[in-house]
This record gives sequence, C-alpha cells and structure tokens, in this order.
Amino acid sequence: MAKYIINGESADFATLSGSEIQRTLGKHHEDKTKKSTIHCGCRPAEKLVLHTFNRNGKFYLRKTSGTGETHKIGCRHRSLNAETAAFFGYSLEAIRTDDNDNLVISLSVPLKRSQTAPSLTQTSHTFKSNDGKCTTARKISNRVTELGALRLLWARANLTSHEPTILNKEPWSAIRGAAKFLKLNHGLELSKMLLLPHFSDDDKQGGRNWYALKNAINKHYVIYIDIIDGDEYKSMLVTLAAKQPYVFSHSTKIGGTTNRFKVKVGVYKEEAMDIYNNLTHQFPNFSSQVKDNAKVVVFGRAEVCVMKADSKEQSDTYYSKVRSMVAMPVTSQLIPFESSYEHQLANHLVNAGRHYEKPFSSEASIDDRLFPDFILQDCSPPVMIEVYGMNTEVYLARKKEKRAIYAAEYPGQYWEWHADRETLQDALQRQQLPAP
Ligand SMILES: [Zn+2]
Repeated sequence: MAKYIINGESADFATLSGSEIQRTLGKHHEDKTKKSTIHCGCRPAEKLVLHTFNRNGKFYLRKTSGTGETHKIGCRHRSLNAETAAFFGYSLEAIRTDDNDNLVISLSVPLKRSQTAPSLTQTSHTFKSNDGKCTTARKISNRVTELGALRLLWARANLTSHEPTILNKEPWSAIRGAAKFLKLNHGLELSKMLLLPHFSDDDKQGGRNWYALKNAINKHYVIYIDIIDGDEYKSMLVTLAAKQPYVFSHSTKIGGTTNRFKVKVGVYKEEAMDIYNNLTHQFPNFSSQVKDNAKVVVFGRAEVCVMKADSKEQSDTYYSKVRSMVAMPVTSQLIPFESSYEHQLANHLVNAGRHYEKPFSSEASIDDRLFPDFILQDCSPPVMIEVYGMNTEVYLARKKEKRAIYAAEYPGQYWEWHADRETLQDALQRQQLPAP
C-alpha cells in the first residue's frame, strides 16, 4: 500500500489497519475548514494533491484530474498510457487505469466457466531515448497471464522491496489493500473474489473467504493465494504426481459454531495431473532454483462448489476446486526472485542489511534501455545490479549491449555478477558492492 503525506506528516498505509485508514480519510473528508491536505508519497517534492471520495460508506483516494502522468510509474494514481503500459510489458488492451485510479487487468484465462480463453498476442513497443537518438524495442502482450497478475498484485502491495528496518512484514493486509484497487475481466473486483489463508493476520478472513465463495457461486471463479515453504511445495508436487488431492489451509470456522463457514481450497484427484504438468512446465528446474529458506507463492483460479447441509440447523458447506495454479518463488522476506543465483544474492543483500528492490518492470530503472535484476535503494543515486546467469547467443548479445550502456553512461552506478563463470564471493572480491 502506498505512502501518503497527510497534513505534512508521512503515513504508510501498509502499516495501518483498514479501520485506521478509514478514520484518517474520514477526518480529511469531513474537514470543513478545507485546511487538511493529502499528498501522494510517490514524488513528495511535487506535492501531488489527492482527494477523498465516498463509495458505499467507505472512503477512497483519487488523484486530481490532469495529474495522472505526473505520478511515478509504479504509483497507483498514475494513469497508464501506451508508453507506461509498455514499461510493464503490456499493451493498453492488457492493463489500463479507470477514473477511480483502479488498475484494470485483462487476464489471458477466463474467469467464468462458460468462457473460452481470450487469445494472447504479442507485439512490440519501441522506446525512444530523451534525445530521440536511440531506440529499443520491447515485447508487449495484449493479455496478462496469471503469473503476470500475481506479479502486478505483489508490486502493488509493495512486496517487491526489502527494507531492513521493516521486520516481519505481514503480507496479507498489504495484499488485501492492493487487491481493492485491482479489477479483472468483466469488471470483477479482485478483493471480492480473493481467498486468503484463514490464519492471515486477523480473524475476519474466514468470513471474507466465505462471502467470496458465496458471491461467486454459479457466476465466476474465485482467486486463491497461499504462501508455502519450498519443501511443502515439493511434497505437493509428489502428491499431485500420484494423482492424490491436495488441500490448502484456507479452511476455517468463525463465530464459534463448528463447521460454520467452512471453506476449502484444494486440488482434487481429477485435476491433479493437469496442475502438476502445468507447474512442472512453468518451473522445469524447480529443485535447483528453490532451495534453503525459499518460499513459494501459489496463485490461481478455483471453481466454487456447494455441499448442501443435512438439516436446517447446519449451514451449507462451500468449497473450491483448483482449476489452475502458478507458482512464484520468494525469499523468506517474501521478495520474489527468478533464479537460484538471484536468491543467493538476495540473501547476501539481506544479511548485509541492504535496502533493495526487485523490479518487475523497467519503471524503477533509471534508463528505459536497461532492466536490472535488482536495484540498491540505499545508495544515492540508486545502484543497478545485473546477474548474468546464461550463455546462449541471444543472451550474450543483449548482455554485451547492456554492459556497453552501463560502462559508458553509469560508471559507479551498477554492479554485476557473471554467475555462469564466477562465485558470488569472487564477484564481491572483484568489485565491492557500493556502500550505502
Ligand atoms: Zn503518486
């Protein structure tokens, strides 16, 4: 969740509860003197004014019209144009922003059973440098895959940045907060169809899950998320390969009544093999990529089913059958990584007490032509990090191109690890990481 500046004081909404946010925004909304101010935290120096509005009794923030392109690209209040959508790897058909600063995502998979998958096509977007002299082309998609949607959600929840001062970051309230501003196909609001584990940070999640299932029945799929240990992920794969069911920890009871509002998210026997095949296809080198203290975020669509109660005293039981699943490896601080090399480096940065970011788009980059694997945010200016792990022909050509730009234009502002031919220790000895 975003950071804001309220009456000159910085407020991080990620650390506030939903009711605290409502109190803060309500106070601003009802201020008759009109002296109360809310500025966006994405560019504090610009003092970008935000306004509260009331929808169904709840307060939300939206930008002043005409400022949509002044907010930072990753900011929720930024309006997307073709150029900024391309920063994320998409066309405006795939992602756009609406009048209330929601991000509208067009998924490549159907959210209703009767639907067929919309076709996914790739085109290319050409970025021009400020002086117009050089151009770079980037592939963009007209649809967002499930993994892409998970990454956008993770970035919006600010779970792509590790700050050593913030310990034990609790992801679930950040995910719930970010989901409120994401819409999917058919205008479906992600927050109303999202199932999170019942143990997530407050005791209301069981009820939220139950209502999400109830609202979705016979209408559309629900979206589930869980975070499991690397070992647990591996044992899930073994279970699925043996065509056995696997149940996530979303089941719960609320209100003290046994079995009331019982919610289950599980892969059932019939789908086990399909899910297994898709995951192993997405992640062919899983065992070598995910080791040590890594965790895995699983995400996907589930179909809602209902089991009628035997008697009037009991409630019906809702459960959900997993229809698709993607997996994203994260560090124990829940920051995503894309290879075992990246995981190794991320662990080093955490142990060294560094503030780093794992960008999912070139938005955080200083230069459109570069797309670093990590960015050290505690250096001024920020330092870009490249982990070179492959040696295919195309990869080496791109590596050469990037290294030339870094050397010529960003001396002292980048750090590189040739992981295919040196250890991390060797790389650190060859060239020290710039100090904060
Ligand atoms: Zn902003």
